[in-house]
Amino acid sequence: MEGRVTKELILPISRILHTSEGGDADYELVDQKRQWPSCLIAIRHAVSKGQTLALDCEGDSLSRKGNIQLLSLDTEEKTFILDIQKLKAFPFERGLREILEDKNLIKLMFDCREDADALFHQFHVTLDGVLDIQLLEENSINRKRGDHNFSAISLNSLLGCMKKYFQCEESVKQKEEGMRLEKEWTNRPLTAKQISYAQIDVYLLDWLFDNFKPSDEELARLKIASRIYLNLKRFIPCRKYNEYENNTYLPVDVIPDKGSSSFPKGYVSCTECYRQFPEDEFSIRQVKKKNQMCRTCKKVKNDKSVQLTEYQFEYFDNDDVTESAERENEIKQYQEQCDEEERYFSEVLNQ
Ligand SMILES: [Zn+2]
Repeated sequence: MEGRVTKELILPISRILHTSEGGDADYELVDQKRQWPSCLIAIRHAVSKGQTLALDCEGDSLSRKGNIQLLSLDTEEKTFILDIQKLKAFPFERGLREILEDKNLIKLMFDCREDADALFHQFHVTLDGVLDIQLLEENSINRKRGDHNFSAISLNSLLGCMKKYFQCEESVKQKEEGMRLEKEWTNRPLTAKQISYAQIDVYLLDWLFDNFKPSDEELARLKIASRIYLNLKRFIPCRKYNEYENNTYLPVDVIPDKGSSSFPKGYVSCTECYRQFPEDEFSIRQVKKKNQMCRTCKKVKNDKSVQLTEYQFEYFDNDDVTESAERENEIKQYQEQCDEEERYFSEVLNQ
């Protein structure tokens, strides 16, 4: 995939990168309710022409707890940057929800998990129709689930993808600067730098998608994977925000193997991520001790234990085998949610 970068693709993004210094900007900052109807018409028009949208939310610690401050929607003509801090639920109640929930209307995203969690819990929007570019990275899409030789697949960040595929130092620098703005998304008025950053993020998604050029077969699996990804955090009954929830590894059974569209059904829950897998995901010893971990959680634990002192390590081990009633209840709730998801997926796949 490297080496596909062309001058033609770099040029438009360079133009956008300069907007913060006063150049022409093909974006619209939407912070008044009266602006929304014409934006909705433009977005619907873009969709009716078969355009793919790109979507991204910004906020401090974005999740069900960290409020959505901005929502950017990119069409081929324009990027609409919605100031959700000011508009609140207004755009969702007037047309945006239908766009975000439409499973046939493709939205490109990069790691949709926190955005989906925030949209679901803050605005009751069940995001669907996502193609997640993070899952497209060649390392992840073509690995086989049954291959236990690897413990976990590392996921690339948007910045990492930028560095790897988009060899433009200026844009990487701007992205790095933008990442330091995380705590400033609540500030108003928004600075030109913030607006530019929000715009670049969605613009990059179009660029990466064009650059990766997934085959039809990969695209079909990516759709399934993205739907699983959407649900991974938003359907956790009680989030812990620990390293098992937030890490840089691909969770198990998200991308189906080549030629497949589903995963073997499992009934054994990982004690850290609570997801259910077939018994062969776990070691017999761990299942016996009831502290079985999927390969991703195991990798996270290994990473963590390297950093632990001896004392902490003992504490961690003891903590591992104790399951409170509250924790068992949480697992039960999570399993019910998984069954619901499974019904949903089989309905979708059988359509
Ligand atoms: Zn796990």
